[in-house]
Amino acid sequence: MSGPTLFEKIIAGEIPAQKEYEDELCIAVHDINPQAPVHLLIIPRKPIPRVGDALDEDQDTLGHLLIVARNLAKSLELESGFRVVINNGPDGGETVPHLHIHLLGGRPLEWPPG
Ligand code: AMP
Repeated sequence: MSGPTLFEKIIAGEIPAQKEYEDELCIAVHDINPQAPVHLLIIPRKPIPRVGDALDEDQDTLGHLLIVARNLAKSLELESGFRVVINNGPDGGETVPHLHIHLLGGRPLEWPPG
């Protein structure tokens, strides 16, 4: 039996996290293991497991997450560049089965990723 995801517990306040932003559709928290000076996770309140399992009806939520990423990048002054990442599935590096956008910035980011 799979219970609430880690991120559902953070949204419910059952697990502490450093919150940067929240609205009716999502929250943004600082990653516990940051890979850059700015490393936020933008998480929909709806526990969509991953992009590959999103529904057509999730379109507005998915778009909203990117608009929030844009706004956070601006407010955190990442004008020299930033990256948004969504890991999907085991080979995609997903470790938490609750969709989230990584927003990374504050240093030059290399390409390609590993
Ligand atoms: P992913 O590997 O794409 O599924 O991303 C999951 C992310 O969640 C990783 O970058 C983890 O460092 C991060 N993470 C795990 N536990 C926590 C937590 N309690 N608070 C904040 N971020 C977390």
